[in-house]
Amino acid sequence: MTVKTRFAPSPTGYLHVGGARTALYSWLFAKNQGGEFVLRIEDTDLERNSQQAVDAILEGMQWMGLEWDEGPYFQSKRFDRYNEMVDILLAQDKAYKCYASKELLDEIRAEQEENKQMPRYDANHPKIIAANEAAKDGDPCVVRFRNPTQGSVVFEDQIRGRIEIANDQLDDLIIRRTDGAPTYNFVVVVDDWDMGITHVVRGEDHINNTPRQINIYKALGAPVPTFAHCAMILGDDGAKLSKRHGAVSVMQYRDEGYLPNALNNYLVRLGWSHGDQEIFSQQEMIELFTLDAISKSASAFNTEKLLWLNNYYIKTSDPEYVAEHLQWHLDNQNLNVENGPTLTQVIKLVGERCNTLVELAEQIRYFYEDFSDFEAGAAKKHLRGVAKGPLELALAKVETLENWDTVSIKENVIAAVCAELDIGMGKLGMPLRVAVTGGGQSPSVDAVMELVGKERVIARIKMALAFISQREANT
Ligand code: GLU
Repeated sequence: MTVKTRFAPSPTGYLHVGGARTALYSWLFAKNQGGEFVLRIEDTDLERNSQQAVDAILEGMQWMGLEWDEGPYFQSKRFDRYNEMVDILLAQDKAYKCYASKELLDEIRAEQEENKQMPRYDANHPKIIAANEAAKDGDPCVVRFRNPTQGSVVFEDQIRGRIEIANDQLDDLIIRRTDGAPTYNFVVVVDDWDMGITHVVRGEDHINNTPRQINIYKALGAPVPTFAHCAMILGDDGAKLSKRHGAVSVMQYRDEGYLPNALNNYLVRLGWSHGDQEIFSQQEMIELFTLDAISKSASAFNTEKLLWLNNYYIKTSDPEYVAEHLQWHLDNQNLNVENGPTLTQVIKLVGERCNTLVELAEQIRYFYEDFSDFEAGAAKKHLRGVAKGPLELALAKVETLENWDTVSIKENVIAAVCAELDIGMGKLGMPLRVAVTGGGQSPSVDAVMELVGKERVIARIKMALAFISQREANT
């Protein structure tokens, strides 16, 4: 049997982290089993669904690298198929038309509440029987599934273990509404059957639907898939994860400068474990993933840990991969990197200092663009009269330096100036850093100078010297 899993989002908004984790687990399980992964858009609720949301989901899945082998299927295009199946159940008397009006059902519910009974649809209620007998063909009606009244539904959830629900707890579910639209619990079953889904991995908010769906599979004569219901994700304060906790949309993580590999690594560990291992390459995740190692209890989101992982991935990933994702931020921050060192060179030098790609994009501007002002605090502290002599000598040495590489700059400019003037490294290093980068923080200044390039370094030291002269003239 080929394993086939699916992710079946309803397009009511963006792809949020909870959905993304479900998609990831479902995808990983399929890959682990050498199986296939299907994407299905559950867009039957025409009022709440939008094309924008569909696009956002597809964009989120693509950004995470969760490629689907089949689909996307759209439920809105399959109404004929669902209706065909409703008609089959009707013909087999496994479903029936119910003409009870909403008012009548409300009245019965109120009665049940008053009598301290569980409010539920009761096909044998005399008023419902009477309403159905009085109805004429063509009157508005719903179609209800005839749920078994005896016995119970039992299934072995791959995460939560054995679950048993007595059939008398389940009422006759509407499978086609008065307006002719089939309902969620019915179409999911038809789809999962038609699409050959063997394993349904989804959020535990659907666990109450599962016994009802299992009864429908059985009525249709369809094989029942294996189920795995994942626990919720909570915010770091223990409440259900929501916008209040910061980013919840996958694309917002892109916008905030996370690498998809870091987010995937974070999400896989959020509710699944393999010993105490924290870092998983995509290949390792695929090899090691099992459903039974998914946690039964809710997991709390921890942004600190995600940041730590992101930093880890920025500094250890292939710089080409980082560059590919950095490009979006460069465009967003309007930074053209054609005129300067290659991105991979800059990423190797600066990447480890950054937790996000937003920071990285911000911190590399001076490699590509000249600036007209120095950072006020850094300039005040380091571009003073005492720095003039060391900077002038450094300038002279830079101008005549033949080999423009980090080692030569370090030995023949920085160390040479310090030796000649008999000063400590800091007396030159900091003014030089502010001169070349505009600010007081950067990686090793010799390596920075190599990438900034000789011409720019010369112009910037001259600018720093002019700044110092101006400052001296003003005091
Ligand atoms: N469309 C449902 C949702 O977005 C998921 C249904 C399922 O996975 O069975 O919550």
